Amino acid sequence: MVAQKLLSRIQPLLPRINRTRLSPCHVPSFLPVHRASYLSVSHSRSFAMATPHPVASTSQPAQIPALQSPHADDVKKPKESKKKDAKAAAGTGFPLELEPAPAFFDHRIKIFEELKAEYDEFVKAQPREEITVTLPDGSERKAKSWETSPMDVAKEVSKSLSERIVIAKVDGQLWDLERPLEKSCSLELLDFENEEGKKVFWHSSAHVLGEASERHYGCHLCLGPPTDDGFFYEMATDRPVTNADYPALEKVSESAIKEKQKFERLVVSKEKLLEMFNYNKYKQYLIQTKVPDGTSTTVYRCGPMVDLCVGPHIPHTGKIKAFMITKNSASYFLGDKDNDSLQRIYGISFPDKKQLTEYKAFLAEAAKRDHRKIGKDQELFFFNDLSPGSCFFLPHGTRIYNSLIELMRSEYYKRGYQEVISPNIYNSKLWETSGHWQNYTDGMFVLDIEKEKWALKPMNCPGHCLIFDSRDRSYKELPIRMAEFGIIHRNEASGALTGLTRVRRFVQDDTHVFCMPSQLEDELSALFDFMQHVYGLFGFEFRLELSTRPDNYLGTVETWDEAEAQLKKALEKQYPGQWDINPGDGAFYGPKIDITIRDALRRSFQCATIQLDFQLPERFNLKYRGPDDALNLDKPPSRPVIIHRAILGSIERFMAIITEHFAGKWPFWLSPRQILVIPVAAPYKEYAAEISDRLTGLGLFADVDNGENTLPKKIRNGEIAQYNFILVVGQEEIDARSVNVRNRDDVGTKAKGEMVPLDEIVDNLVALKKSRSLDNKLV
Ligand SMILES: [Zn+2]
Ligand SMILES: [Zn+2]
Repeated sequence: MVAQKLLSRIQPLLPRINRTRLSPCHVPSFLPVHRASYLSVSHSRSFAMATPHPVASTSQPAQIPALQSPHADDVKKPKESKKKDAKAAAGTGFPLELEPAPAFFDHRIKIFEELKAEYDEFVKAQPREEITVTLPDGSERKAKSWETSPMDVAKEVSKSLSERIVIAKVDGQLWDLERPLEKSCSLELLDFENEEGKKVFWHSSAHVLGEASERHYGCHLCLGPPTDDGFFYEMATDRPVTNADYPALEKVSESAIKEKQKFERLVVSKEKLLEMFNYNKYKQYLIQTKVPDGTSTTVYRCGPMVDLCVGPHIPHTGKIKAFMITKNSASYFLGDKDNDSLQRIYGISFPDKKQLTEYKAFLAEAAKRDHRKIGKDQELFFFNDLSPGSCFFLPHGTRIYNSLIELMRSEYYKRGYQEVISPNIYNSKLWETSGHWQNYTDGMFVLDIEKEKWALKPMNCPGHCLIFDSRDRSYKELPIRMAEFGIIHRNEASGALTGLTRVRRFVQDDTHVFCMPSQLEDELSALFDFMQHVYGLFGFEFRLELSTRPDNYLGTVETWDEAEAQLKKALEKQYPGQWDINPGDGAFYGPKIDITIRDALRRSFQCATIQLDFQLPERFNLKYRGPDDALNLDKPPSRPVIIHRAILGSIERFMAIITEHFAGKWPFWLSPRQILVIPVAAPYKEYAAEISDRLTGLGLFADVDNGENTLPKKIRNGEIAQYNFILVVGQEEIDARSVNVRNRDDVGTKAKGEMVPLDEIVDNLVALKKSRSLDNKLV
């Protein structure tokens, strides 16, 4: 599904795209593996997936907005003056626009205008017939073919509607608002709030950015798709793009927006396309490889720019009311490191200035919560260039990490899981059996040992198949729920590594359930229950999507139908009417359920997946003795089904998500600094140490502040360090064998804490940890 999502993002600029070529994983789509990224080098902040599961499509596009945006803290600044912008542009020493403009501007326009004149003649010659346009409410309107446009219909309905909408959908297909309708059809009118509308809006904005880049750099453009949080354009420039160029690019973009440049569509033959884009080898490549000989595709003109694009677009650039460059990075043409290195510029735009202000405030909040910042401030973890992408967890970070593993382990006991430990390094023969060797070597760390090839495991499944196959199995043993916190290594490009979200070394809460087909429904229900329980502990909302049989499926239709029916039944039982279906988006080896969680900033992340797999059991020839096998010796061996599942996904990435979700204010059970005991003066140090020792002995994280600071300063430091509770002790407390309690999340207790008997608070703290409650509240 994600691969398709990416594709649909790029597709508007690519008439006929080759899916394999642009797969986000650089891995053929039939492969049971998942790379985290489609970008070779990027500074983008992509919360790339690290789920354990063997799909080519689990990589997540960037969901978190650009935190490194140089504008992220603009909200604090007074309004930028135009003068300052101009100065900044001049500051780079480059003019705003090339004088004269590159020769290809006139070259393209000349061809465009000739062909457009022909096309206008063609349209004029089309018969005008009465047609019927059906709106979503079922109402019908009369119109004229080759004359009435969706915009005309919108204006008829209401002026405000016509101003609000950004794109039309004709018979289910996106359609330019000002492109005449050709026959009777259904018509939907979409605004920016609609997901597809938003994508069209951002895609159109990418053209503006492309135009500004051509005018500023004289660059050769490549691809310019919308993303989940804006858009980018990729280009070959003579000089590297820097932050200092942003004001100039924004200024040129603004002038294009002010001109209300119309997006004009034109169908052009492959021959003419090659002539039109003869100056640009990237467009040449795209035309040569994506447009079959003898066919044609569309270009769009927008001001001086003509671009290869299937569209559609907003009617004119004036619809864009706020436009901002957010970041830039280096990339490779088509994401292939053997291709030319390119510059990629990202931006965001809105139909309302207010939305940009809100977006900047959101960025500022996200930057404050950045897990890399909090990780440093709270001394949780760090990275070192001697092992890029492999995290060093400091003692306090390790406490959080272990609490997550303890959570999963405690659930495993209750839910009939069995934990195993399998090797980290395997002979290439194992990877040949699993299919990784043929198709995933780029993603693995390969070593030569005693003249043979070995590799560090990029996932646990093949090892678990060996465990299942280590002796004969009977149906009576099934289901086997095999869990492992195995260390996984994936050879991510060093330029793509980002904090804890994109790493080379990580651990997953990985499980493979080996079961009989008839057990699927119960297993799935149990998994939903497990997942819901875990996400509930963090306060995450989640969304479920079922992806069904793709065109390139393996196995029989009957097996698929049966598995999908069970998945649907299990989903419907647990979440009646609350899940979506993605037809044809399953992995080739089985259907899957993707679970997306939403954090406190309402950002989405995919952590959990539940994937059925009929193929790995075949490859490893896994079998069990079925109930009837002894009676029927001719019967082929019974094959188990494997369910790959992870709930947290990569623990590293999950830690990044929850660090930002909680903004470093950890709930008590996860907190690496739970209790700070502060003696009001030296004579009470002993009592403070006694309390701290007692709490530590009970498995809680307690510290004493015996420093030289004043009491208020110590309390303040404890608050900054996010201790959940601060216990202050003096004479009064010793006399009453009690403590004075300040609760981090209860402002009322901060001035003068509450006196609580020591025994009582100890019991309550232990109970609070055990409850794994989100509320920092003592009962
Ligand atoms: Zn376009
Ligand atoms: Zn797996």
